Amino acid sequence: MSITERVADRMGLIEESATFAVADQVKKLRAEGREVWDLGGGDPDFATPDHVNGAAIESMEQGNTHYVASRGLPELRTAISKKFEEDNGLDYDPLEQIIVTPSAKHALFIALLTTVNPGDEVLLPSPSWVSYEAIIRFVGGVPAFVPLESEQGFVLTAERLRSALTPRTRMILVNSPNNPTGRALTREEVTAVAEVAEEADLLIISDEIYEKILYDDREAISLGTMPGCLERTLTINGFSKAYAMTGWRLGYVAGPQEIIAEVLKAQQHTVGCAGSFVQAGGLAALTGSQDCVAEMVAEYATRRNFIAEALDELPGVRCPKPDGAFYVFPQVEASMFGDDTAFTNWLLESAGVAVTPGCAFGPGGAGHVRMSFANSQTILEGALEAMRRVWPSS
Ligand code: PMP
Ligand code: GLU
Repeated sequence: MSITERVADRMGLIEESATFAVADQVKKLRAEGREVWDLGGGDPDFATPDHVNGAAIESMEQGNTHYVASRGLPELRTAISKKFEEDNGLDYDPLEQIIVTPSAKHALFIALLTTVNPGDEVLLPSPSWVSYEAIIRFVGGVPAFVPLESEQGFVLTAERLRSALTPRTRMILVNSPNNPTGRALTREEVTAVAEVAEEADLLIISDEIYEKILYDDREAISLGTMPGCLERTLTINGFSKAYAMTGWRLGYVAGPQEIIAEVLKAQQHTVGCAGSFVQAGGLAALTGSQDCVAEMVAEYATRRNFIAEALDELPGVRCPKPDGAFYVFPQVEASMFGDDTAFTNWLLESAGVAVTPGCAFGPGGAGHVRMSFANSQTILEGALEAMRRVWPSS
């Protein structure tokens, strides 16, 4: 048997993560001495707040460096339950309905591992984050993309969802605010998701990881609050984005007790539990002052206006302002550069600006690129200046 034949067939269905591929490429170019303006990854440039770091260090110094409960520290689950109640209007029992996971990505992974049977179709409005498709395929499911129209502002309708339904459809995965578009679902859209889920008896996975990063007084609506939805929804969230804690790997999943009991088996047999002192940091993040979140969001809002307006002024680019998250998702005229992958390559080669091609986010992302403004104003200005220098005048 050749070495490559030793790789399981399922890996042939999975692409490398486009977001991590861009990050790795940036590191490689920098090591070669190239100057790169990195608008690739969705990683806050802010430091994790001091009180969060302090709580984890203190916990470690107190000897909390061992396994903890597989569901997560009881006091953290209580804080998460309180957060759900106060921020989202969701009632989740900390004892039976919440599992703390090492990252929201792992929460998604074990949630889908627990609920998708081989061949089950998962409705995936697109554009959507790169790892959803991969996770669905890992667990034997089939992503059923629901491409949304850029010209219509990527609006999600019941008709669009219905047109993708088949007898194998088992679930719908939604993410609001959305990575990469920055769109936050309106009440009409959330209602549409709830209606179709009810009609077709679907489970809903609601990834709410960007809920705190919203602009212009937009509100985050949790799918689980819609009539009849709590019993059919798994809510995913985490600490990476709101508290600038990407390296901590801390997230959580909440849902009906019967499903969470099964998800727990997947947690126990994969990672056991989330990091002990890491959870102490998470507890400090949730129970401490939320001013740090407000300060970061205010800074993101300023950057959003700057980058969206500057991009929109470039010939051939249309860049609406996102409602939330820290990405802009401009559409670039195909006639200027070919497809979005060609444009991404050209931009890196000629301007040294790293972005993620829109096609990485599914069929709805073609013709766009994602640029992250979880980067300092100086970097954003440098990137824009480098783009203007090489941009063809039309
Ligand atoms: N969901 C979305 C939409 C994301 O953009 C990310 C960012 N990586 C995650 C989940 C996972 O976050 P983490 O694994 O860092 O908790
Ligand atoms: N969510 C971020 C992004 O989309 C981090 C990288 C990842 O996990 O994909 O860039």
